[in-house]
Amino acid sequence: MKSSPEAPQGCIGQRVDLIDTPSLVIDLDAMERNIARMADFARKHQVRWRPHAKLHKSAEIALQLEKAGARGHCVQKVAEAEALAAGGVVNLYISNEVLAATKLLRVARLAAQLAARGGRLALAVDSEEGIARLAEAMAVAGSDAGIDVFVEIDVGQGRCGVPPGPEAVVLAHAVARHARLRFAGLQAYHGRAQHLRGAAERRDAIAEVVRSAAHTRALIEAAGLPVPLVTGSGTGTLVHEAASGVYGELQAGSFLFMDADYARNERDPAQPAFEHALFVKTQVISARATHAVCDAGHKSHAIDSGLPLVHGLPPERALRYANGGDEHGILHPDGPKARLPALGRMLWLVPGHCDPTVNLYDHMIGVRGGLAHGVVERIIRVDARGALT
Ligand code: PLP
Ligand code: MN
Repeated sequence: MKSSPEAPQGCIGQRVDLIDTPSLVIDLDAMERNIARMADFARKHQVRWRPHAKLHKSAEIALQLEKAGARGHCVQKVAEAEALAAGGVVNLYISNEVLAATKLLRVARLAAQLAARGGRLALAVDSEEGIARLAEAMAVAGSDAGIDVFVEIDVGQGRCGVPPGPEAVVLAHAVARHARLRFAGLQAYHGRAQHLRGAAERRDAIAEVVRSAAHTRALIEAAGLPVPLVTGSGTGTLVHEAASGVYGELQAGSFLFMDADYARNERDPAQPAFEHALFVKTQVISARATHAVCDAGHKSHAIDSGLPLVHGLPPERALRYANGGDEHGILHPDGPKARLPALGRMLWLVPGHCDPTVNLYDHMIGVRGGLAHGVVERIIRVDARGALT
């Protein structure tokens, strides 16, 4: 057995029951089924997919997705883009606004680097100030490679983006005026709609989003500027953007791992059957008369979207995870025939929200052959861990 000095919790070739806890484990078979489902879905709908790497933060996984048909990757931060570029990813889109001059210089340098490697960089903007500063940084960097620029419209989340309509036309023209900036289209992402619980609520929300995006695109084109692409969408609503005829690209990321919060959505019948593929492995370290305690608290998983689910138990034997603080989880019987887990028992938790959970770990341990009897096949580095700038 080859030991992996990089990952203290596990090494390649090790049996799954010997992986130390708490640790972040990928069920590689489940992840690859999710990738195949997404590739299939995109092919059927003839849309591109540029998955969001804010989820896995790993160049190795990004390259695996690209092999399966993904066309580049989205990130939210300049530092995430730099980390993935260092790991060999050359088509990157920072689907976010960047304003600081120091960061924009890094953007400009990265655009030149990626172009030299046969790739390209894109950035979102929502202000004339942001466009002017980006153009200045590109001029200072002196590269003629250029950068793709998406104008972001706020299609309902109330986060970044100008309102759909005339303001976006002004920005599109402002982008097109600069030689080193290429107007690439519209960024139109509605984050809150992803987690509306009812399938009909999500359908109605995205119908409105699609109308806004189509209207804005028509205004820009009527003003003489082609709109090459409308991009956006996430795991919760991708069936609607894909069928819209307006969106040419899907940015969904979470489909790869599927967090517990997404499992609470009512599934749309057209939604591919994505399954949980990322788990926190934990061990019962105290067995009391009324409850058991495991060694994974909220330093082991993010709790902003709710507490983790205990995976792999039939409903009548379900256990409920309650927050025991930084380092502990408290397990209660939930199903009618549930028994408390014995001291030493290993359990698998599905994180409430995978993106910030991954950011808590240096490595993900990739298991082949299932969580019961599998073997560690890969140790995957979280290259962009803590890449906040
Ligand atoms: N696009 C943008 C701009 C996002 O912020 C996100 C996630 O927050 C996504 C796409 C991916 O969404 P999801 O992880 O829900 O699939
Ligand atoms: Mn998320």
